[in-house]
Amino acid sequence: MSKTPTRRTLKNGTISSTKSSDITPIKRKRVVKPKNTSNNKGQSEIEDIEDLLKFKEEEIAEIRVSLLEWYDKNKRDLPWRRLKDDDDGKEKKAYGVWVSEVMLQQTRVATVIDYFNRWVLKWPSLYHLSLASLEGAKKIIEDGGNFPRTVSSLKKVPGIGEYTAGAIASIAFNEVVPVVDGNVVRVLARLKAISANPKDSVTVKKFWSLAGQLVDPHRPGEFNQALMELGATICTPTSPSCSECPISAQCHALALSRQGGIVTDYPLKVVKAKQRNEFSAVCVLEVTESHNLLENNQKSRHCLLVKRPDGGLLAGLWEFPSVLLGQESETAIRRKAIDKYLKTSFNLDAKKTCKVLLREEVGEYVHIFSHIRLKMYVEYLVIHLNGGLKLLQSVSDEGNMIWKCADSKELSSMGLTSGVRKVYTMVQQFKENSLTAATQDTKQTKSRKRR
Ligand code: SF4
Repeated sequence: MSKTPTRRTLKNGTISSTKSSDITPIKRKRVVKPKNTSNNKGQSEIEDIEDLLKFKEEEIAEIRVSLLEWYDKNKRDLPWRRLKDDDDGKEKKAYGVWVSEVMLQQTRVATVIDYFNRWVLKWPSLYHLSLASLEGAKKIIEDGGNFPRTVSSLKKVPGIGEYTAGAIASIAFNEVVPVVDGNVVRVLARLKAISANPKDSVTVKKFWSLAGQLVDPHRPGEFNQALMELGATICTPTSPSCSECPISAQCHALALSRQGGIVTDYPLKVVKAKQRNEFSAVCVLEVTESHNLLENNQKSRHCLLVKRPDGGLLAGLWEFPSVLLGQESETAIRRKAIDKYLKTSFNLDAKKTCKVLLREEVGEYVHIFSHIRLKMYVEYLVIHLNGGLKLLQSVSDEGNMIWKCADSKELSSMGLTSGVRKVYTMVQQFKENSLTAATQDTKQTKSRKRR
């Protein structure tokens, strides 16, 4: 039987309660809707339980009413929820939902509130953001400046996937579409007592379908937020407050718990694959048109950034040039790998096409992904390029490498991943320290000369 919690401190320090202000919510994980997976091996097994994966009409009606009633009374007061979605405010609301949803995928609600408030102070609208070079914002402004209003059109904007598109379309523009994040998966898995692997693409597709059946046609945005809110505050991973749950009457996991089951058995806990170690040489490469490093003005320097491929880890995001190494490697091996990469990809050759003004090891940084522990060896390289930036040509094999050179102002306002940002900060710190040391040396030399 599930216990009757009133207010408990959980193992991870969070508190379970119906009082919204007391709750430390869970970081939101988006669940990517899989593409057509009809050939997947698990298909026949899922089809056998197809009927179980449909809500009855009366269940749908009861869930909608109970959940929305609960949400109206208990929803947390969050800055992006205060934005009006009347005709004048829809664009602002869409912008707020976009920013908050992206942030919520990275960290907890409590942290996001402060980030969000600072973000909208700095970039109060999509137009301001587009000036700061965020690709998606630029594209919307270039296309006329109005937010696309449907999932299908939103998905065409760089950086907006199924989840974020569903959130914006339903919350800001009332499109009747579902949104499925980790919280929603948990609630649905318990409501329908689904024990299939929640990470399996066929199962994920079913969760999207179930959420689609439930979404309220009159208040889609609020319904989606209510479902996510329920997962974050009541139907928590380890200690759900079933006695306070507005949809407990429709919950199959709770019904099974009365026969000896445990609600937290749903969704199935997938054993995480062991983290593998990877190593990469990262080169923060500054290109300058000056021959003299000391005379050079920071503003005239540009950093080379390359875009990751559209699939796989950190798909489509900008990063500094890097090369994966098979193992921990010494400086000479790392430099050789970077040299080869720069020559092959950009025709940069220290002996022929450019002059190296500075090359220093900056340090190491370990970035942890869910399944990878990536150790990055960071170096700082400044080159003078005969002929300037114009001559920096991509000659990558496929000819489809996307890259750009950004000055420090553009770099500091770009939407970079935390790993890339950390590497950049390391290099900035290194430059500051070197400058301080150089200034002290100069002062000492002058003082010696005076004596
Ligand atoms: S009854 Fe309990 S397990 Fe079922 S949805 Fe509500 S909180 Fe979750």
